[in-house]
Amino acid sequence: MTKYRHVILDRDGVLNHEAPGGYVLVTGQWRWISGAVDALADMARAGIRLSVATNQSCVGRGLMGIDGLEKIHEKMKHEAGRRGVFFAGIYFCPHSPEHGCVCRKPLPGLIEQAVADSPIPLRQTLYIGDSQADLQAGRAAGIATWLVRTGKGRNTEASIKNGSVKETDLTGVRVFNDLKNAAAAILSCHHGIKRD
Ligand SMILES: [Mg+2]
Ligand SMILES: [Zn+2]
Repeated sequence: MTKYRHVILDRDGVLNHEAPGGYVLVTGQWRWISGAVDALADMARAGIRLSVATNQSCVGRGLMGIDGLEKIHEKMKHEAGRRGVFFAGIYFCPHSPEHGCVCRKPLPGLIEQAVADSPIPLRQTLYIGDSQADLQAGRAAGIATWLVRTGKGRNTEASIKNGSVKETDLTGVRVFNDLKNAAAAILSCHHGIKRD
């Protein structure tokens, strides 16, 4: 298996639980998914570059300001940082669907930016998400894309498997129960003799 050295993560449903109503609007609504910080810490310790790519249309819909979003990301960075985790970049799309921007997933703009800012080649870059839009965005960006069953992940997996969504399939997509399990698979290639 590929030794991934840059892991780009969706936020809601991968790192943290989605808030009631769908959007984390205040820091008090931030709740880490069990094992997610451990997974980040394990990957950071292995020298893996970590980025976040997240749709936050709550900004474009007028539900919160950029400053509020930044407060939430400060909390996320602070809590992860206490475990030795540093995010190389946090990329967000603040637009609502009507904006017609190029960054909102399923378009690959956020992921492409994370890749462009990184010295690590595409083939060693992995995207992990929980929604169909994540799978489409990762694929459109031309990188390996995995699905976790947290957040929307279980529904995403089911709707693809039962054919209720046609434009995505699970070819080449590895599916894990959560980020902790996905990280274990990534790290299994980092142990032992260093090879490329
Ligand atoms: Mg998500
Ligand atoms: Zn956008």
